[in-house]
Amino acid sequence: MSPQLSAPKYHKERTLVLLKPDAVQRALVGEIIRRIERTGLKIVALKLFVPTKEQVLRHYNKDDAWCEKKGARVIEELKSRGVEPEKTALEYGRAIVEQLVEFMTVGPVVGMVVEGNYAVGVVRKLVGGTEPVTADIGTIRGDLTVDSYGHAAWRNTAVRNLMHASETEEEAEREISVWFTPEELINYRTVWEKILYDVNLDGILE
Ligand code: ADP
Repeated sequence: MSPQLSAPKYHKERTLVLLKPDAVQRALVGEIIRRIERTGLKIVALKLFVPTKEQVLRHYNKDDAWCEKKGARVIEELKSRGVEPEKTALEYGRAIVEQLVEFMTVGPVVGMVVEGNYAVGVVRKLVGGTEPVTADIGTIRGDLTVDSYGHAAWRNTAVRNLMHASETEEEAEREISVWFTPEELINYRTVWEKILYDVNLDGILE
């Protein structure tokens, strides 16, 4: 059997992308969408809206383990600046969720659902690490902004890192349902899907 026939069909996934208020304010919406689109991934939903507090809380439904881990980093930052932490790691971590609510509700964001082969991992790779100043050059966060954990701790705000992208397929499914109704996701085909996914490429030569 040829490798093509024995291999599974392509790994079709959907992922949630949010362009945060800093991306909209910086007029980086087009640039970020360009970087996503040119991979060959396909936009199946797209809208501009102002999130509600409830939506943001449902989206960032972080558990205590996440809060402790993120809070520990805040404590590290404060200590490195000679500031004595006033709260526990868990408390600092929970404060980040509150800060995310404040940040995400200040103005419009762009929400998108993106589909294609390994869409979740491909978009995470484009986005880069959480902290822009240490995110790799070539990634969206590494190339297009400069926030740091230290400055976010000093401001007492969430890190402003332009965008969110789902971490796993399961997360993506849950997160998409926070921001989109099933009717808002459009099933359609693009002409270039043939070159990405079809076995048979007959018909290119005239
Ligand atoms: P990512 O968005 O890279 O998946 P996380 O899920 O760890 O990152 O965190 C969610 C968001 O919370 C980040 O994008 C960032 O805006 C904010 N955040 C994470 N860690 C911190 C921190 N130590 N201080 C302030 N904000 C943070």
